[in-house]
Amino acid sequence: ISEGEILGYFYSKGIKPDGVQKLSKDMVKMICSEYEVEVIDAAAVRVEEMAKKKEILDEDDLDKLEDRPPVLTIMGHVDHGKTTLLDYIRKTKVAAGEAGGITQGIGAYKVLVPIDGKQQTCVFLDTPGHEAFGAMRARGARVTDIAVIVVAADDGIRPQTTEAIAHAKAAGVPIIVAINKIDKDGANPERVLQELSSVGLMPEEWGGDTPMVKISALKGENVDDLLETIMLVAELQELKANPQRNAKGTLIEAGLDKSKGPVATFIVQNGTLKRGDVIVCGEAFGKVRALFDDKGKRVDEAGPSIPVQVIGLNNVPSAGDEFEVVGSLDVARERAESRAEEVRNERITEKAGDGKVTLSSFASAFSAGKKAGLDLHQLNIILKVDVQGSIEAIRQALNVLPQENITLKFLLQATGDVTASDVDLAVATQAIIFGFNVKAPGSIKTYADNRSVEIRLYKVIYELIDDVRKAMEGLLDTVE
Ligand code: GDP
Repeated sequence: ISEGEILGYFYSKGIKPDGVQKLSKDMVKMICSEYEVEVIDAAAVRVEEMAKKKEILDEDDLDKLEDRPPVLTIMGHVDHGKTTLLDYIRKTKVAAGEAGGITQGIGAYKVLVPIDGKQQTCVFLDTPGHEAFGAMRARGARVTDIAVIVVAADDGIRPQTTEAIAHAKAAGVPIIVAINKIDKDGANPERVLQELSSVGLMPEEWGGDTPMVKISALKGENVDDLLETIMLVAELQELKANPQRNAKGTLIEAGLDKSKGPVATFIVQNGTLKRGDVIVCGEAFGKVRALFDDKGKRVDEAGPSIPVQVIGLNNVPSAGDEFEVVGSLDVARERAESRAEEVRNERITEKAGDGKVTLSSFASAFSAGKKAGLDLHQLNIILKVDVQGSIEAIRQALNVLPQENITLKFLLQATGDVTASDVDLAVATQAIIFGFNVKAPGSIKTYADNRSVEIRLYKVIYELIDDVRKAMEGLLDTVE
C-alpha cells in the first residue's frame, strides 16, 4: 500500500498523520482491515519464536530425532476438579506396579497410558492453574505441549475458565476440554458444550476441532478416554527431540531442602541429562550430584520430556529459567555471571522499549478505532483490593458502564497487595493492574516497570471507575 494511499485513508477518517510519524498498532490494524490484509503482530510472533526456540532443535539434531512424550498442564476454574483429576491420575496410573509409589511430589510426574497394547508415557505438570502457566510464559518458557481445561458440568464456563482458554490460545497450545462432574445431579454437559462453542471452542462432535471428553474425576469415569484423547492429540503434534546430546530444558520448580541444599525440578526438553553433568540454570550453576525421578527414586539420567529433580546447584533458580549442560564448571560460572549481567541489561532495554499497555494508550487507541468505525477492543483488567467486599463493589460499578464497544475483561480479581505473579499475568495478557486500597511494594513496581506493565493504585472507588470510564469513552486527554 503506497504512502499516499495510507495518508489518504487516514485523512478520510479525520486522522491527520504528519507523514513521518510511526503508525500505532491500532492505525495499522485499521488500514489492514480496510484493505483486507491479515495483521501479523511481529512483536508477538517474535515472542512466540523466542519461546519456541527454547525447545527448538539444532540442525545437528535433525537426523537423530526420536518421539518424546507430551507435557501437559491442567487448567480451569477453581473447584472444577483440577486437583481431583490430577490426584486420580496419579493414584491410578502412576503407582500401578511400582513399589512405594510417589512419596513426595517433585512438581511433575509421568503417566503410562496403554495404547494399542503398548504403554506410552505422558507427563503432567503438578501445579494446576493458569497462574503458574502464565508466570512461566511471561518468562518466555514453553514447556506445555497440550492444555487440559477442566469445566464442571454443573457450573459451566466461569471467569477462570475463560482466562485459562485465553492463556492456552495465546501460547498456541492445543486444548482438550474435560467436562467434569458428570456424575453430579444438575450436571448439564450439553449446556457446557454450548457455552464452549460460544467462546470459540467447537466440540469435535459438532464438527469442530476441540476434543471434549465427559468425565467424573471423582469416580474416575472416562478418565482413560481422556488419556487416550491426550495421546491422540500428542501424536498429531509430532513431538520430537534428540536424546543423544547434552541436555537442555526448563526449570519448573525449585526450593531449598534442609539436607540436600538447592533442589530443582527440570523438564528436559532436548538431550539427556546425566549425573555428573555440569549445568547452568539462570544465574545458578553446579555439577549434578544426584538425580531423582518423580517417585523419588535415584536415577542416572533423564531424557526428553522427563521431569527430574536435581541436586548440586549453588543457588535456587526461578521457575521458567532455562538450563543447559556445559563443558566445565569454569564455563558454567562464567555463563551464570554473564546471564546475570544480561538480565540486568535486558531490564534496561525493556524499559526503553515501547509496547506498554497503559490506560491512556488504550484510550487513544480506542478513540482512533472509534473514528474508523471499529469496535474491537477489550480492556484486560487485573484487580487487587483490600477486602473481598471491594471486589463486588468495584465490579458492579464497572459493569454498569456501557460495554457495547469495549468489554472489560477481569483476568484476576483478588485481595492483597500487587504481586509479581499479577505482573506476570499482565505481561502474558497485556492487562493493566488496578489496585484499590492496596500497595505495590517498590520491588514490584520496578518489576512491573521493567516489563512494561502499568499499575494504577486508587484509594477512592469513584476515581478508579471514572478513569476506566474515560478510557472506555476514548477521552485520552483526561486520563493520565
Ligand atoms: P480445583 O480447585 O479445580 O482443584 O478443584 P478440586 O479438585 O479441589 O475439586 C473441588 C471439589 O469438587 C471437591 O470437593 C471435589 O471432591 C469435587 N469434585 C471434583 N471432581 C468431581 C467429580 O467428578 N464429581 C463430583 N461429584 N465432585 C467432584
